[in-house]
Amino acid sequence: MRYADLHCDALTAAAPGTSFLHRTTSQVSLEKLVGGDCLLQCFALFTPPAQDFARSEAVKTAGKRSAAGDGRARNSRSQPDPPGGAGIGAEKSGAGGPVEKISGKEKTGERGETGAPVWRRAQRCLSAFLAAEGELSAAGIRPVLTVENGGVLEGELSRLDALERAGVKLFGFTWNEENELGFPCGRPGGLKPFGKRVAEELLSRGIYPDVSHLSDEGFFEVAEIASAFRVPFAASHSLARSVCPHRRNLTDEQIKAVADGGGLIGVNFVREFIGKAGIFAHVVHLWKTGGEDVLAVGSDFDGTDRPLYAGADEMPRFFEDLARAGLPASVLEKLAFRNALRLLS
Ligand SMILES: [Zn+2]
Repeated sequence: MRYADLHCDALTAAAPGTSFLHRTTSQVSLEKLVGGDCLLQCFALFTPPAQDFARSEAVKTAGKRSAAGDGRARNSRSQPDPPGGAGIGAEKSGAGGPVEKISGKEKTGERGETGAPVWRRAQRCLSAFLAAEGELSAAGIRPVLTVENGGVLEGELSRLDALERAGVKLFGFTWNEENELGFPCGRPGGLKPFGKRVAEELLSRGIYPDVSHLSDEGFFEVAEIASAFRVPFAASHSLARSVCPHRRNLTDEQIKAVADGGGLIGVNFVREFIGKAGIFAHVVHLWKTGGEDVLAVGSDFDGTDRPLYAGADEMPRFFEDLARAGLPASVLEKLAFRNALRLLS
C-alpha cells in the first residue's frame, strides 16, 4: 500500500554538510521510505522554543559542553506538566531532544550564517530540505515541507515569504510552549493577536493551519477563521481524546470541526497518545466521528523514541494490521494516501 505521511521529524536531525536522508539511526531515511512504499512524506521544520536556545547558550557559555553538560541542559528542558491533563508524553524527548540537537549544531560552528539563532536554524533546515528534494523525487517520493512551532517567525510575518517559497503546506502554531502566536495544548488561552494575523495570512496564501499541539481554545479560533476563509485545516499528528484522555488528542467536537472544514487528522504512533485501547480503536473512532474523508497518517517518526511502528519501512505492517482488524479496503486507502493527496497535491 502506498502511503502519505503528514508529519515526521527527520529534518530536525539535519546537520550542515550531511544529508538527513541517509542516517541509519533515523526512523525515516530514504531507504526506509522506499522500503515502506511511501508516496508523499511531510518533513517538519521544527525550531525549539526560544527559551531552549537561551538555555543552550548558557550551557555553552559556562563551558559545560561535555556530554554531562549537554545532559543537564536536556534534563532541564523537561517542564512540569500543566494542570488538567496527562503529560505531553515522549514527543522529541530523551536522546533526540531539541537541546541536544542545538548543542550539536553549536559544535559545528555554523560559519557564515547570520541572524537570530531560531531563524539560523530554520534556514539550515530549509537548506537541508531543498537539498534532499531531488533525491526523494527521483525515488518516487514527494517531499512536502511543513512547520511545527510557529515560534519560528519570532513575531515577523514577513518570514512567511521564505517559508512559502520553500513550499510549506501545513503550519503549526505552537509546539509545547507558549509563543508569539498563542498557547499550547493543556494550557488556558488561545491565539494571540499575532496568531490570528498569521492564521489569516496562511489561509489567504493557501497554506493549511495545523492545530496539533495548539490549546483547545486556539483550536476553535483557528476553526472559525478557517471556516470564514472556506479553507480546510489539519491536525497533522493527533488521535482521539475520548479513546485516550491525553491533552495532545482531539475531543469529538474537534474531530467533527476538522472534518466539517474538509480537513485531515493524521494518525500518530506515539504510545503515550495511543494508550491501552490500541491504535485501531483510535482509527475507528476518528472514522465514526469525523467520517472516512478526515483520516490520514501523521506518524511522528523521529519525534518520539519508541513509536508503535519502528520506522517508515514498517508502514506495510501498519496497513496489514488495520486490514486484519477489519478496516474496509476503501477506508484504508483513504487513510493511507487518498485523503492526504486531496489537500497536498
Ligand atoms: Zn509534534
